[in-house]
Amino acid sequence: MTMNSIPAPMWTEATHAVQSANRLLLVTHVEPDGDAIGSMLGLGLALRALGKTVDVAVDGGVPSYLRYIPGSDTVLEKLKTGAWDVMISLDSSDEARTGDCGAYGRANSPVVINLDHHQSNTGFGHIHLVNAAAVSATEVVQDWLPYLGQPLTPDIATALMTGLVTDTIGFRVSSVQPRTLLLAAALMQAGAPMYDIIQRTLNSKDFRDIQLWQQALPSVTLQDGVISGVVRVADWKAVGMDDTTDSGLVGYLITTDEARVAVVYKEKVSGEVEVSLRSKPGYDVSTVAFELGGGGHKQASGATVPGPVDEAIARVAPLLLAIANPQ
Ligand code: 5GP
Ligand code: MN
Repeated sequence: MTMNSIPAPMWTEATHAVQSANRLLLVTHVEPDGDAIGSMLGLGLALRALGKTVDVAVDGGVPSYLRYIPGSDTVLEKLKTGAWDVMISLDSSDEARTGDCGAYGRANSPVVINLDHHQSNTGFGHIHLVNAAAVSATEVVQDWLPYLGQPLTPDIATALMTGLVTDTIGFRVSSVQPRTLLLAAALMQAGAPMYDIIQRTLNSKDFRDIQLWQQALPSVTLQDGVISGVVRVADWKAVGMDDTTDSGLVGYLITTDEARVAVVYKEKVSGEVEVSLRSKPGYDVSTVAFELGGGGHKQASGATVPGPVDEAIARVAPLLLAIANPQ
């Protein structure tokens, strides 16, 4: 697979497809983050306001910290029945990432719209709304609303602000442009409580998250611009967590002045290893994620690779050293 060049968003085709549809299914990526849920619910609320029948679904449902987003209670965590005129995939760079809900939806929807902002988007589906310059999938949704003739409501704005704030880590990434702030201003003006959203997403940790960092920090090493950490199954189980996570540790590690690349290797119960990658501007970790069968953005990407952890490290570490130390 190679990185593809991305065609311009097909706003007119997508708008016509939605206008002539009655039943729509919206899906997003597994292990959903603020942009996944925010873009899916923001568009879902807009389509419902336009009189459409809309199902929204993601494997496992909405993480508890995001349940303040209006419409969260309508999200299905499994699809067992149903057929739709159009399925819309949001914030997913490839089909596999939409999980079981995406697979069920594709098999039961004749038309698939691919709405995303990943450079690594594979171009799946029939109608593409992919803008790799957008900071979040919610930016693409916000750009689409005028074509659909749907104004921002406080609920839609709250959902969209969630993706804008979380994918930019509070407007702190290099992809933020003047227009990003204009989009945020429009959302605030429409009633999105930006401060509350930032508190609930970026400024919120459970004490268990801190305890997980206590477990993981002794594993941290720094070598030639690459800072690495490991979270094993025993670590997250020891603090009473029930799923693979680094509690945001990789985002903390990349703030180290001496680091150009950060990685956390997260062991799963299956024995596979989730690799979370971050980098400073000028260093692109998405190429490594892509090579490993994952995807993401230049400064934040990831992949799941076979275990055990030590073999995953032996495979991935040299690739990261090469990114951090270009010849
Ligand atoms: P995180 O480190 O927060 O889990 O992931 C950072 C970013 O990398 C995500 O927002 C997503 O864009 C991308 N990413 C992480 N894991 C995968 C994966 O397994 N497949 C793909 N396609 N992208 C991933
Ligand atoms: Mn996103």
